[in-house]
Amino acid sequence: MHFEQPSKNVIWTNEGFGNAVAIDTGKLYFIDSMANRNTMRKFREKVESVFNKKAHALLLTHHHGDHIFGNQLFKDLPIISSHKTREILIDWGKEIFLPENMKDWEGYSAEGFELTLPNHTFEKEMTFHDDHPLEFICLDGHVEGATICWDPDHKTIIAGDEIFNRRFPYGADMTSDVIKWRDALSYLIDLNPELVISGHGLPATNEDLREIHDFLKDVVRYYVTNKDISVKEILNDIEFPEYYNEGREVSREGSIKSWYLKFHPES
Ligand SMILES: [Zn+2]
Repeated sequence: MHFEQPSKNVIWTNEGFGNAVAIDTGKLYFIDSMANRNTMRKFREKVESVFNKKAHALLLTHHHGDHIFGNQLFKDLPIISSHKTREILIDWGKEIFLPENMKDWEGYSAEGFELTLPNHTFEKEMTFHDDHPLEFICLDGHVEGATICWDPDHKTIIAGDEIFNRRFPYGADMTSDVIKWRDALSYLIDLNPELVISGHGLPATNEDLREIHDFLKDVVRYYVTNKDISVKEILNDIEFPEYYNEGREVSREGSIKSWYLKFHPES
């Protein structure tokens, strides 16, 4: 299988629909378990052999299926997420993530699938104190409970879906919040990272972070200044900010609709 090792202690792959990542801090953590668990199994074996150690825990950046369907491979280990991510998986995921509903997921292996919940949770942040510390920080934005990993010794961020690099950010989840997302981006920029692994797309440069931040800032400004506009009008308004829109119409529409609700809760 194909994977990339952009720094000594990080490996990632995009073969599982959502990017999956591993980081060696002295202990080996996997971040997100992708859509297809057969691919995830191969990724885990590969990574364990490169770093010559066994997985210590699985960290989940949020509740979307392309980041959690492989959880059951880690069920004997700590599976860690924000408290909110676990709550959403219990309330919503248990209704939605059923094999019969999920046939259209790319590469999804429905047969034998069990929804496996995080077994450790935290409220806002937690730190693993290994040879190198690893911070797990809940920022919200893409969805409620969305969390990033920060390795301060190597200035590495594993951003989950807080970063869609050079593709329209998917906000078509009813818990997506564009104001919190904008603020999450400025938090990431302030960390001044040297490596940023995104949830979808290639690793992001600081320039990419600023471009996404500018876009989200413009989106918030658009909603604030255009108070009396309908969703339909926004969808056809050429003034609505652009960010790598090509081929992302479904994502763009869904995001515009769900972000609209934050500014028009009565609609
Ligand atoms: Zn997501």
